[in-house]
Amino acid sequence: MPETRDFELNPRLIELASGARRIVALTGAGISTESGIPDYRGPNGLWASQKPPELGDYETNEAARIGFWQERRRRYPQMLAREPNAGHLALAKLERAGKLLGVITQNIDGLHQKAGNHPERVVELHGTTHEIRCMACGRRYAGIDLQRRLDAGEADPRCPVCGGVLRSGTILFGEPLPPAAIEQALALSQAADLMLVIGTSLVVNPAARLPLIAQRAGAAVAIINREPTPLDERVEIVERGDAGPILGALAQYALGV
Ligand code: NAD
Repeated sequence: MPETRDFELNPRLIELASGARRIVALTGAGISTESGIPDYRGPNGLWASQKPPELGDYETNEAARIGFWQERRRRYPQMLAREPNAGHLALAKLERAGKLLGVITQNIDGLHQKAGNHPERVVELHGTTHEIRCMACGRRYAGIDLQRRLDAGEADPRCPVCGGVLRSGTILFGEPLPPAAIEQALALSQAADLMLVIGTSLVVNPAARLPLIAQRAGAAVAIINREPTPLDERVEIVERGDAGPILGALAQYALGV
């Protein structure tokens, strides 16, 4: 978190954030790039190389699962080691100050919770990589426990209770988003007085629709992103740049510290 207000923010954004009582953040992969997790569609994006598997394929094809777990075994330790950056910490600070109602995230990295946002105030539209689920009985297991099993040599780990196929808690291609998460995201969007849209290319629904839903319900919307997005022309404020320093400065101004 910067100690000085060294970032020139749009004065209207400072005014809105200072007066806001129900800020809702909508975050995408861009808020976590400063923690060392690449985004998907940015210039160094992972879109081409690391798409999640297709739902149908995964359930029925043992080879697809083995490939998935091999890749996960290699990557998960790095994911676990990632730390929240100034952007995540600023949102947690706004929540502690009673100004932030919730975070709707497309990310699966768990960094909002690690930064201190209450888990019940974080809506994970695409699930979480820190949870493993049984496709047969629905039991849930911690990502770290599964990692131990993969490290011990299991290639296609099964549910220890019912023997069902296990999967990551992240959504697969071809799978609908969890209805409860969509409902929560809609409710938060409609309750916001200020929506901060951070580090998302806004090309995938329903996340891409949420800022307009918030706007229709009376919220001001500010987009904070390195690159242009399809909604830039339709929102009140666009801050172009890195989320960490922008949010760090914004939290300081908004909280008058
Ligand atoms: P995206 O990759 O499509 O877009 C990221 C956007 O953030 C880009 O427009 C980029 O210019 C911007 N950006 C990158 N770094 C930034 C920074 N430091 N500050 C401000 N802006 C920055 O991301 P998306 O819209 O979230 O869609 C990608 C999908 O991939 C998501 O649905 C998510 O589930 C998944 N994903 C998640 C993670 C993660 O959990 N950290 C990482 C990669 C992909």
